[in-house]
Amino acid sequence: MNNEVKVDFGMTERLRFREPELAKKIAKKIIKIAPKDELIKFCHVCGTHEWTITHYGLRSLLPSNIEVIAGPGCPVCIVPAAEIDEAVQIAKKGVVITCFGDVLRVPGSQKSLLEAKAEGADVRIVYGVSDAVRLALAEPKKEFVFFAVGFETTAPTTAVEVLKKPPQNFSFLSSHRLIPPAMELLLGVGDLQIDGFLAPGHVSVIIGMKPYELFPRVYRMPTVVAGFEPIDVLMGIYMLLKQNKEKKPRLENEYSRMVKWEGNTKALKVMDKAFKVIGSNWRGIGRLPDSALKLREELKAFDANEKFGIHVKQGKDILLGCECHLVIIGKIKPDECPMFMKACTPQKPVGACMVSSEGTCRVWATTSTRSK
Ligand code: SF4
Repeated sequence: MNNEVKVDFGMTERLRFREPELAKKIAKKIIKIAPKDELIKFCHVCGTHEWTITHYGLRSLLPSNIEVIAGPGCPVCIVPAAEIDEAVQIAKKGVVITCFGDVLRVPGSQKSLLEAKAEGADVRIVYGVSDAVRLALAEPKKEFVFFAVGFETTAPTTAVEVLKKPPQNFSFLSSHRLIPPAMELLLGVGDLQIDGFLAPGHVSVIIGMKPYELFPRVYRMPTVVAGFEPIDVLMGIYMLLKQNKEKKPRLENEYSRMVKWEGNTKALKVMDKAFKVIGSNWRGIGRLPDSALKLREELKAFDANEKFGIHVKQGKDILLGCECHLVIIGKIKPDECPMFMKACTPQKPVGACMVSSEGTCRVWATTSTRSK
């Protein structure tokens, strides 16, 4: 192993970095500090990080022995098939399902919501939960469900809306998940090498730094919260390499212009008022303790599972030949899946990772600058 450096600094201009000189400077510092004879793998858990890294060709600015792998950072990709099945079953009862556009094509065990819609189900795309509430108010004789998908970033808006007590004909199918338990899971995956975490900026704006403290303390894992500009990501990688070199794992905040140590206390309070934390399944991962949000008992009138008595225990998450379960945990890169850009394309996705703009396969499929 050696850190063969084939850096294309022209990339910083061609891809219109806001500050190409600064990007070059950080890339050079990375090359200088990177170990020579050791493979280092950093893991991020954020679809937007993957987009920035891939779109700006950041991997090509790194020495060949420094890799950045993508963990379970796409909230749409990890929705288990069982929860899509629940939405489909509720839709079959004549209920209007409202959801974000990228949820529509996520495969269920038998069909996606888009396929259910083609068969006559009333499934409507909304840009936010408040749009869905407006639809319900406009058609009081119909039942409406908002399929609430997302990490800690979107959970507060669901919480605010449910606490405002929406109309009687409205309820939520909560598929919200929490990021730190997924990061902890990755550290237990036998042969998955992780030498540091690039923690997600958006999620951290809400949850702050505290939930990551255990990574350096318990697992001796360098952890840096980073923003989404290419410079943020490069700087985050540099900070991780520095910790690695000093052999002093710690928690650092590269995104201090947005992330406070305590997070957004108002949003956290609202989330806590609306949700309880429960164990739940993640597509491609399985059951993770304390990793999902369910509406509290006193709000169960707005819980679509309770309201319509639909509870699907087990779904078929991964179709034959699909490698999403390996892509989701960063074990393989999208182009190592035999279906990538053959049977599975953005136009005709087979697996969940090809559906959302935050899915790793989709990001790789729609960007020509991916490398390494
Ligand atoms: S290319 Fe398609 S089938 Fe293969 S892992 Fe990605 S989403 Fe799944």
